[in-house]
Amino acid sequence: MNFDLSHDHELLEQSIREWAGREVAPRIHDLDRAHQFDRGVLPQMASLGLLGISVPVEYGGAGMDYIALGVASEELEYVDTSLRVIMSVHVGLNCLTLVAWGTEDQKQRYLVPQAQGRKIASYALTEPSAGSDARGIQTVGIRQGDRYVLTGEKMWISMGDVADNFLVFAWTDLEKKKQRDPSGMSAFIVERAFKGFSSGTLKEKWGILAGNTGFFTMEGVEVPRENLVGREGEGFKIAMFALDQGRYTVAAGATGLIRACRDASVKYAKERKAFGVEIGSHQLVKEMLAQMESDYQAARLLWLRAGWLKNHGRRNTRETGLAKWFATVASERAAGDAVQIHGANGYSDEYPVGRYYRNCKGAVIYEGTREIHKIMQADYLLGYRTDRPTRCELPAWEGTAS
Ligand SMILES: Cc1cc2nc3c(=O)[nH]c(=O)nc-3n(C[C@H](O)[C@H](O)[C@H](O)COP(=O)(O)OP(=O)(O)OC[C@H]3O[C@@H](n4cnc5c(N)ncnc54)[C@H](O)[C@@H]3O)c2cc1C
Repeated sequence: MNFDLSHDHELLEQSIREWAGREVAPRIHDLDRAHQFDRGVLPQMASLGLLGISVPVEYGGAGMDYIALGVASEELEYVDTSLRVIMSVHVGLNCLTLVAWGTEDQKQRYLVPQAQGRKIASYALTEPSAGSDARGIQTVGIRQGDRYVLTGEKMWISMGDVADNFLVFAWTDLEKKKQRDPSGMSAFIVERAFKGFSSGTLKEKWGILAGNTGFFTMEGVEVPRENLVGREGEGFKIAMFALDQGRYTVAAGATGLIRACRDASVKYAKERKAFGVEIGSHQLVKEMLAQMESDYQAARLLWLRAGWLKNHGRRNTRETGLAKWFATVASERAAGDAVQIHGANGYSDEYPVGRYYRNCKGAVIYEGTREIHKIMQADYLLGYRTDRPTRCELPAWEGTAS
């Protein structure tokens, strides 16, 4: 067993660290306060190969392994959650789903431009009345000849007001919709440019303020049959499949946020004095720092294991879910303690820890809430849940898997 990152991974880590530290870190406070999504980061991320990082080279990607995707997610969220969210929805939830489930035509028309960063993509399952309960969605796609007509509303969609293409889930069998039978759901590629599509930005959000979170409505959007992903009725499976990759990026990202909390707290604990000594000398402050370190190391090992399984083409829903659940809950603990260590200064925007605290909470909610992940892990233990292979799986990495 080798716990070292490969030379390529270290180079990637270094290049993202340098870029994000130089281009984003100095501006992130202002972007966050202005609630401003900076589109300028997208071409920069594309030029670093990040928008197609684990997409095969033949489809316009960088062809790096899944550990590289985790390394990138951790480094990006170390600077700001909004950067990692781009990786989660564009690469994790959308591009890698097309790698596994897309037709050759879909790969050429959508995956290639997305992996090259010429188009930005997202994932749209959630609706105003259904989040955890994905079978509760109301969007329908009615087949009419060589097209499907989609009607419905999607809510809380990352980059909903920015992305060009969306992986959209809708009921195509209305009888099964009534029975909540998920085999009546299908997945579609929907372009923002399609007639009947309109979107907006959610303005009242209080975290990930430098990121765009939006909603969109589809009023009789005509989607060509060629944009059906998988077969009719496979949408729910595809939605769950995509989460295996999205959750992986969220796990690695939350690990980066724990590291950011740890580093900021260690620095402050050595600067700030109370009762005549650095606050780091007080045992209760040490306890918080030590907890951050153990959470960081454990979270990192969990996402690395999930990435290793992906590299080897092995099923990893259980391990990825555990990594996501653990890292996000631990990031909330780390961010809360980071604010605590900073005292009143942590309660202001003068220091970054308040932003970490606001940003971390989203990940405890999206891509399976804390409660949904608890239930999943218990169900695996109890034998109520097992993972069966789906018709299309994420391909093992073709290089020498580390
Ligand atoms: C910043 C942000 C970005 C997002 N981006 C996207 C995106 O890009 N695409 C997308 O499709 N969605 C996105 N979402 C939506 C997200 O996936 C949902 O918010 C999430 O699935 C939870 O759904 P909900 O908000 O409807 O909460 P609900 O499902 O209504 O849950 C409310 C509470 O009830 C609990 N609960 C629900 N069911 C159970 C149960 N069976 N047992 C125990 N407790 C339960 C939940 O854990 C939670 O605490 C995003 C959300 C946020 C906050």
